[in-house]
Amino acid sequence: MDKKRVLSGIRATGRLHLGNYLGAVKGMLELQKNPEYETFYMVADLHSITTPFDPEQLRRNIKEVVLDYLSAGLDPEKSTIFVQSHVREHTELAYLFSTVETVARMQHLPTFKEKVKQHPENVTMALLNYPILMAADILVYKAEAVPVGIDQEPHLEISREIARKMNEKYGLDFPEPQRFATKGESVPSLSGEGKMSKSVEGSYINLTDTQDEIKKKIRAVPTSSNVGGEMSPGVKTLFKLLELFAPEDVSKYSTDYKNGTLKFVVLKDYLSEAIFKELQPIQKKRQEIQADPEYVEKVLKMGQAKATNVASKVLSQTKKEMGLL
Ligand code: AMP
Repeated sequence: MDKKRVLSGIRATGRLHLGNYLGAVKGMLELQKNPEYETFYMVADLHSITTPFDPEQLRRNIKEVVLDYLSAGLDPEKSTIFVQSHVREHTELAYLFSTVETVARMQHLPTFKEKVKQHPENVTMALLNYPILMAADILVYKAEAVPVGIDQEPHLEISREIARKMNEKYGLDFPEPQRFATKGESVPSLSGEGKMSKSVEGSYINLTDTQDEIKKKIRAVPTSSNVGGEMSPGVKTLFKLLELFAPEDVSKYSTDYKNGTLKFVVLKDYLSEAIFKELQPIQKKRQEIQADPEYVEKVLKMGQAKATNVASKVLSQTKKEMGLL
């Protein structure tokens, strides 16, 4: 039986944080391990330019994401690891897909409205087209599973809609891709308000943060002075992170909380230790990989070739059915 394909990607807007790691990378690793799946993992550089960016910084960020991928355990022997813009078929298919979606549908997406609020001076066509390019990223491999955080669900709905429309109109056989969810599909911000995000300073912990930095950031999570009652958003964040990094200890700390005996500083320092314990081997591996820059180049070249091989066939099939070939 043919393997089911998987596609995921992360924008090159900086180093990965715990939200990316728990919501996306952990799912990517799980599917990479599963022999029933063929995994394609990209650095979404074209999605990074839908919001304001600096070219030199972008060039560096692309490498940072690849380093984070490899050090977190993505394996070029098992997964196709590549940069989105290196496989031109993504953008060509996105253009073909844009013929079956309406402007009104794109304008009403919650993610689009949120970005318009964040960058009112930068409401570009590329921003509006983001979900269409994402549909092409996935469907150019006919991928069925997409390990991404819960915030991406409205975009996946667009991908399914486009697959259905293309199949109905042109007799194609695109699958309707489903999100592959992890336990950390929605990691809260360290401030307790909203989600952990690269664009909100003070909300995140990077995979490369030192033990001291982690400790400082966790200590700064706001906690209410009364222990025992309804949990404040900051306290909920601490317990959510505890559940993700040390699930075996949740019941002990919850009992202490309910009994009114919990000392937040004890919980915070314990949590920092647990987070660092998981990140330490990743950071060690990063140093090894960083020492050999040619290795990263080799991985990306190999990834580009493997990804293009699949993507070019799907694009040709689509163009044929649309009367373009
Ligand atoms: P982005 O940095 O927006 O390109 O996101 C890359 C991946 O990380 C996507 O799959 C997101 O859904 C996921 N992600 C980002 N922030 C979080 C978060 N706070 N919790 C869970 N997943 C997240």
